[in-house]
Amino acid sequence: MDINCKCVDCGSPATKRMTHHGPYCTQCYRIWQMRSACQKDHKPCPTKTQLRQMFAGLIGRDMKCESCSSTMNWLASDGRRTVVSLQHDRSGGMRLICLSCNTRHRACPGDSFYEIPDSHRRCGRCEQALPKDQFGVHRGSSTGLHHYCRKCAAEKARKWTQDNYETFRPRATAYERERLRRRKNENT
Ligand SMILES: [Zn+2]
Ligand SMILES: [Zn+2]
Ligand SMILES: [Zn+2]
Repeated sequence: MDINCKCVDCGSPATKRMTHHGPYCTQCYRIWQMRSACQKDHKPCPTKTQLRQMFAGLIGRDMKCESCSSTMNWLASDGRRTVVSLQHDRSGGMRLICLSCNTRHRACPGDSFYEIPDSHRRCGRCEQALPKDQFGVHRGSSTGLHHYCRKCAAEKARKWTQDNYETFRPRATAYERERLRRRKNENT
């Protein structure tokens, strides 16, 4: 990109953050993204100046998430879990926390999320805040852990088997039959 290319909002050198408004620097681009998301979700939208002040505060504390103290990055392309996100607390306040914390806040009633220590996590089923080691690993999720605690996950699986016994059992039998057939073929 042309080195003389300036950010349309702050005039500092633009990075390759092109929108229909023009080129942006990284921070102004993130501000634009956050404000667009607020408008789309019909949530209170801070002004550019307010967000810029919040960003300055964030740089002042070395980009640390105030909730989990992980180092955050401006753009999702540099790590989605740790990207700076705008949190709308249910008390009405706004703050910048990492996306992983933001997602977990959403699952907690009120703003109770902030009272749960970082070593803990709330189960989506029994709704208890439990130590993280009581949750199974789930690579696909934003937090890397299961939504339900191990106990609830086991209960849910047990219930599923009970509820689906009629369909589940014949399938298991068919699988078992196939397995035995294969083993027999291997031995002959
Ligand atoms: Zn800018
Ligand atoms: Zn965090
Ligand atoms: Zn649970």
